Amino acid sequence: MPGTELFGAEERKEIEDVLSTGIMFRFNHDAQRNNIWKAKDFEEETKKITHAKYALAVSNGSAAIMAALAAAGIGTGDEVICPPFTYIATIEAILMLGALPVFAEIDETLCLSASGIKNAITAKTKGVCLVHMCGGNANMDEIMTVINEHNLILVEDAGQAFAASYKGTATGCFGKAGAYSFDFFKIATAGEGGIFVTNDETTFKLADNFCDHGHDHQGNNRGMENHPIIGFNFRISELHAAVGAAQTRKVPFIRAQNLKHKQFLQQHLSKTEGISFAALGDENGDSGTFLNIFLPNTEIAMQTVDEFNKAGVSGFNYWYTNMYHFINQWDHIKQLKTTSKLPIQILGAPQDYSNLNLPKTQEVVGRLISFGIRCTWTEDQLKELADKISACVTKAMQTVTA
Ligand SMILES: *Cc1c(COP(=O)(O)O)cnc(C)c1O
Repeated sequence: MPGTELFGAEERKEIEDVLSTGIMFRFNHDAQRNNIWKAKDFEEETKKITHAKYALAVSNGSAAIMAALAAAGIGTGDEVICPPFTYIATIEAILMLGALPVFAEIDETLCLSASGIKNAITAKTKGVCLVHMCGGNANMDEIMTVINEHNLILVEDAGQAFAASYKGTATGCFGKAGAYSFDFFKIATAGEGGIFVTNDETTFKLADNFCDHGHDHQGNNRGMENHPIIGFNFRISELHAAVGAAQTRKVPFIRAQNLKHKQFLQQHLSKTEGISFAALGDENGDSGTFLNIFLPNTEIAMQTVDEFNKAGVSGFNYWYTNMYHFINQWDHIKQLKTTSKLPIQILGAPQDYSNLNLPKTQEVVGRLISFGIRCTWTEDQLKELADKISACVTKAMQTVTA
């Protein structure tokens, strides 16, 4: 969690700026705010890193995805191809908008594959919600070919992939709209926060309206603004945006440190029998937030997790059994458990979510263990971690094959 590792005077100063005027609302109050606009600063800092034409800071990453889907025109009855390995927010956002998730296969990049997308296309497919998982990037050239061939709308959930890119384009900036998260567990944090991005002015305006009750943000009398569309409140507060802006300025440094640490660990671990690493669509575009190791099979991965626990190794995720990141544990989605009726319960699910056939995804996620990379690790700590990982994997390999 590099963002929270580097919390200090910079964040404090940004917050004090806001408290000095008391204007915690991101719009209006021009006379009282002493030209302090932290949400705008946060958006500008994000644009410097992503080169997106438009950015909108919102209350969290989940809201940013919902805004991205909505502004891209995805709604009730539209089938949206999505991965079964993602943070649950992706699926929730699709469902809340009335759209219908269609789960497709991922590959060794940990993201949807072009063939996975292709095989999931039906006459009702409107779009794809691609998720760039674990700090990396999908195989964009192949994916864009399928998207364009089939005239689909691409929305990117780059919640975990801020500062990642593919052949020079930021993850999140390939499709009609994209989303980043700045929650407490990402490369940089606003406490709670998210950013919507797009390169299309109309899409940006729709998101801007959607995230603030339809407000068109013209003029300086909020109560008299027009409301071209129905929206909701996904606004970010100036306090959160202040922290987000300070943190985002640190991202180039954090990423550089992350990548150095990841390279060190990979170099050490590549000699250990049984360890390989997740693929990247573009090796040069990694954000470096996760070390993603593959074991030869699920059984050995599970045994490795046991060995980590016995040896007191922490800071890793075994997604295969994680309640929030992998479909095997999503009973509430499979059974469509909701507080009140959603469109999918009237329209019917496009797949039998309890009987999905996704062998490639099961195999990939079963073999995967990810370590969150810390940008403040010392060389001694890195060496110790590499040695421990290596010893645990070696033990697991022996135990399983014995
Ligand atoms: C964190 C995350 C989200 C949700 O972001 P919040 O800011 O926590 O709402 C969505 N998608 C992915 C892939 C994430 O990792």
